[in-house]
Amino acid sequence: MMRRTKNILKQAIIRSLAHPRVCTILNPWTRRLGTVFMMHRFEDPTQGVYGHSVEFVEAVLKRLRRRNYRIVSLRELIDDLNRGASWKGHRVAFTCDDGTYDQAEIAAPLFERYDCPATIFLVTGFMDRVLWPWDDQVAYVLRHTARTSVTIRADSQTLSYDLCTDAQRVLATEDLRLRCKLMTQTEFLAVLDGLSEATGVAIPQSAPCAYAPMTWDDARTLEGTGLFSFAPHSVSHQILTSMSDDQARDEITVSWQRICHELAKPLPVFNFPSGLFGTREVGFVRAAGLSTFVSTVAGYVHCRPNAESADLPWRIDRFNFPETLEDFLQYSTWIEWGKDQLRSRMRNS
Ligand SMILES: [Zn+2]
Repeated sequence: MMRRTKNILKQAIIRSLAHPRVCTILNPWTRRLGTVFMMHRFEDPTQGVYGHSVEFVEAVLKRLRRRNYRIVSLRELIDDLNRGASWKGHRVAFTCDDGTYDQAEIAAPLFERYDCPATIFLVTGFMDRVLWPWDDQVAYVLRHTARTSVTIRADSQTLSYDLCTDAQRVLATEDLRLRCKLMTQTEFLAVLDGLSEATGVAIPQSAPCAYAPMTWDDARTLEGTGLFSFAPHSVSHQILTSMSDDQARDEITVSWQRICHELAKPLPVFNFPSGLFGTREVGFVRAAGLSTFVSTVAGYVHCRPNAESADLPWRIDRFNFPETLEDFLQYSTWIEWGKDQLRSRMRNS
């Protein structure tokens, strides 16, 4: 009961703070903030796909339009950042990672209905149907195995999971994916090689329907509407930081070349698989002629007029698209910024 009252109070406070009149009052301090949302799968019960709720996304887009938010494309946001253009208010942009079929068939019509631009980051080997992402393969085998427990061996570790319930399978998927991201390339490939045998599930050569990519034709049609842009998210979706120089460079360069070959107006912004990168990878992005990259670090984009550095904006941070309206309001207005300001003042006092 206590928790419920607390939640209702929190919701009421957040909704009041996000009210357009409050945002207008704070505009002199917050008008140069931008929010970029990162989205992944969209729910598709016909294929058993879990993801962003279509109803919730629609409610959010409707609200943004009703309240006259400045919804911009990532291209426009970056152009403004590069120019140091003066902003008149908080901006919101949407991005989708990976290029799965649901983004073309379910998300795109929603975005179109609200005249809302979005940028989709494509895994080009996946689009070309020569591979499908390893993290989806992990999800697929752990979801479909008939075994109630499984042991997976990497070079230096043995991972055991109970798989009696759906919840355990989801947890096992999350844990194994996380561990894979921290492995050396040799260990990682050993795990992938052993997955099929460990689970007794044959991994299809190309993605099953529920994990399928959109087609290049889908991408061209969406690009033609003028609302959607496409940008590279590697060839294979494997972790670049554990690859050799040549492999990591190719993942960036080749994926960009493929997109330039297939589409008319690709966006020169790279998206690192799993958000993992270092100085070396950033150098390869620059060398490939790409202008910047997005991260998976939660945070606002800041427009600084008369940018001191030509490198600005070198990294575009993104908020994970949330599941509740209150979280959405915090990230898409000044509120999360206000909390950060408060926290740093408290630290410094
Ligand atoms: Zn991805």
